[in-house]
Amino acid sequence: MGNKIFRSQLYEYDYRTRVIKPKNRMCPRCGSMMAFHKVGKPRWHCGKCDYTIFVEEKKK
Ligand SMILES: [Zn+2]
Repeated sequence: MGNKIFRSQLYEYDYRTRVIKPKNRMCPRCGSMMAFHKVGKPRWHCGKCDYTIFVEEKKK
């Protein structure tokens, strides 16, 4: 098992705005990578210090 991280997993390309943005956020509390959870309420969660940021869904 390698721990290779592919670029496509770390960044996503927005075709509408043509902007490449990192998929993962850094935790404002401890500075480590946060994971995005889609189940339930979409949110960013830090596995290290348990910090959670809830993502507000955009209205169409
Ligand atoms: Zn953290």
